[in-house]
Amino acid sequence: QIALKPLNCPAHLEIFNQGLRSYKDLPIRMAEFGCCHRNESSGSLHGIMRVRNFVQDDAHIFCTEEQIKDEVAKFCKLLMEVYQDFDFHEVSIKLSTRPAVRSGTDEFWDKAESVLGQAVELAGYKYDILPGEGAFYAPKLEFHLKDAIGRTWQCGTIQLDYILPERFKACYISHDGSKKQPVMLHRVILGTFERFIGILIENCAGKFPLWLSPVQVAIC
Ligand code: ZN
Repeated sequence: QIALKPLNCPAHLEIFNQGLRSYKDLPIRMAEFGCCHRNESSGSLHGIMRVRNFVQDDAHIFCTEEQIKDEVAKFCKLLMEVYQDFDFHEVSIKLSTRPAVRSGTDEFWDKAESVLGQAVELAGYKYDILPGEGAFYAPKLEFHLKDAIGRTWQCGTIQLDYILPERFKACYISHDGSKKQPVMLHRVILGTFERFIGILIENCAGKFPLWLSPVQVAIC
């Protein structure tokens, strides 16, 4: 399978790198609806749930280490608001922790996992742990929503990343005038639009929430 990686992550880093950034500028949040292509085998294509050309609500937050907790908590609240607007009320949050094969020290993982957990609590939600399911470079939060017939779907994620900022030599000027590396948070709320629309149609059996319904009111 050939997966053409979405260009959004490096593109956003390049935009970040286009100016001299101060700690006063952070957090910097960038979002776009990015078009991606993936050469899925024909057997795995499935209605609009799995297609070869799709759009993702890809976004990145560049922040200092101290800002991670607040930014992740804000993201949790935003995501829950969006899901509520689509009438998804059962959302469970999973914290994917360190896998067996990984980079970084145990202290790094202890800190990164606990900051994500604290952020969820700060936003007022509970979470479960998915042991070993994090990326090799950092833990992440996954948001699973339950549809009308009880199936769960993972749509939203927020992922810590220290590797890409390092690779792209991203930096900002801190309080004391020294150069520091920002942390990058990759986040999606809907995930793939096509798939989300498929889940939404099935969940409401075509009877969309009022604000989204093409015909909201009919008068006889
Ligand atoms: Zn990204």
